[in-house]
Amino acid sequence: MSMNTQGRPTGTGSAAAAATGSSLLPDEPLLFEIGDTEHSGVDLPEVTVGDDFLGGFRRETPLDLPGLTEPEAMRHYVRLSRLNYSIDSGMYPLGSCTMKHNPRLNEKLARLPGFADIHPLQPVSTVQGALAMMDELAHWLMTLTNTAAVALTPKAGAHGEMCGMMAIRAAHAARGQGHRNVVLVPESAHGTNPATAAFLGYAVRAIPARADGTVDAEAVKAALDPDVAAIMLTNPNTCGLFEPQIIDIARAVHEAGAYFYCDGANFNAIMGVVRPGDLGIDAMHINLHKTFSTPHGGGGPGAGPVVLSAALAPFAPVPFVRKGEGPLALVEHAEGHHLGRITAFNGQMGMYVRALTYMLSHGGDGLAQAARDAVLNANYVKARLGQVFSVPFAAAGPCMHEALFDDSFLEGTGVTTLDFAKALIDEGFHPMTMYFPLVVHGAMLVEPTESESRQTLDQFCDVMLDLAKDARAGNAPRFTSAPTRAPRRRLDETRAARQPRLKWERPDPLPQAAE
Ligand SMILES: *Cc1c(COP(=O)(O)O)cnc(C)c1O
Repeated sequence: MSMNTQGRPTGTGSAAAAATGSSLLPDEPLLFEIGDTEHSGVDLPEVTVGDDFLGGFRRETPLDLPGLTEPEAMRHYVRLSRLNYSIDSGMYPLGSCTMKHNPRLNEKLARLPGFADIHPLQPVSTVQGALAMMDELAHWLMTLTNTAAVALTPKAGAHGEMCGMMAIRAAHAARGQGHRNVVLVPESAHGTNPATAAFLGYAVRAIPARADGTVDAEAVKAALDPDVAAIMLTNPNTCGLFEPQIIDIARAVHEAGAYFYCDGANFNAIMGVVRPGDLGIDAMHINLHKTFSTPHGGGGPGAGPVVLSAALAPFAPVPFVRKGEGPLALVEHAEGHHLGRITAFNGQMGMYVRALTYMLSHGGDGLAQAARDAVLNANYVKARLGQVFSVPFAAAGPCMHEALFDDSFLEGTGVTTLDFAKALIDEGFHPMTMYFPLVVHGAMLVEPTESESRQTLDQFCDVMLDLAKDARAGNAPRFTSAPTRAPRRRLDETRAARQPRLKWERPDPLPQAAE
């Protein structure tokens, strides 16, 4: 197929356009730009019902939808998919995101008609298997964390944070402690933690990091007062380090009458090895789309269940599955302090099935093995790259599931962390997380996960070391001009976020119906 200058395919039979010399990945036009009202992928019978059938509401103008043949539609989406980098096409070492392989078995089970084809308003007597699946998932999550309850419905980690913090707020209110309006958040926290606290109306009090990258129990104690409602702490933290004083911190927080919210997005490092409930946490979200291998949606379906301690269990949102004598019940209206609903219906069923499939296929010992392998892989990367890349908090010893570097090894090269990440794109790898956590300068956070083989890790490390050598040899232009082999060069990401073009308008509008 040939392209005209707008990248619009010229239809079959039209005069041949000049060759453009474009690559196999030309700009892909919108469906609306390639489709027209003459084509269709299906043959539909002529409409035989008369006008009176529609009571005078028959449409006068053409339906402004793009018509395409089946190969045109298929090629459009396949081409778009080739513009994406995904975990299915290569290593995705994005720190803090746990981009692990999504086993196809999970997908197969999520598509079983008994899970995929049911409706949330069906009578519960007809969906007992789905409720049993939810109950089993809840059991696994509570067992892995040693907690008393779990709210399955939050649809992302950040949503889980909100749910857990709402339970904490409700628990304080029930004890006559509703005046508590401060949440402690360590400096290394993910941005969603202070955002959640602020969203719920709390003032955020920052806790500085120690020189070794961990949180100081003494600093927490100094910040605790009768106004503090909770601490939000990530463990392992976003520097990839296990918080050694976490039990001390939990005790001090409880003695001050506050609750301990743990950000569990990094649970992949410790699942099956450490139970957060044993450390004294009261609430923790678990990103099923990280730890339990369900796909990360681009703002689409994730799932962030929140486990709750006995103290917070009475404040869990509805709905939840109740097991007793006879059939399983879905409790949708509960007495007492329950939060009410935080999502429509019952949460992300497909993600529940995928996560439970992953758990059952690994078993408890397999999950612990996955966590250990994730930690081993991160330390392998840290050991190989650490010979050239600068390692902050080296005194803290081995890392957990992610390896953190800063940009001091690039000093004087004219190459920034951003340039380095862009050059990695040209080498076929998705970049690591950049500039996060904020507590180190020019952070590069690499999380290989347990999915990657030794060969892939070596390939990645070889490329990283080669790039570092080249940067230090004075070849800054390779970095500052990168990426040169990606479908897009450097984008104005701020403008894309602030002024997104969400609407396509037809250049030559169709005739409008009279106003
Ligand atoms: C990913 C992540 C979150 C937020 O989870 P979402 O599902 O993206 O909302 C929160 N905290 C940490 C440490 C994370 O890595």
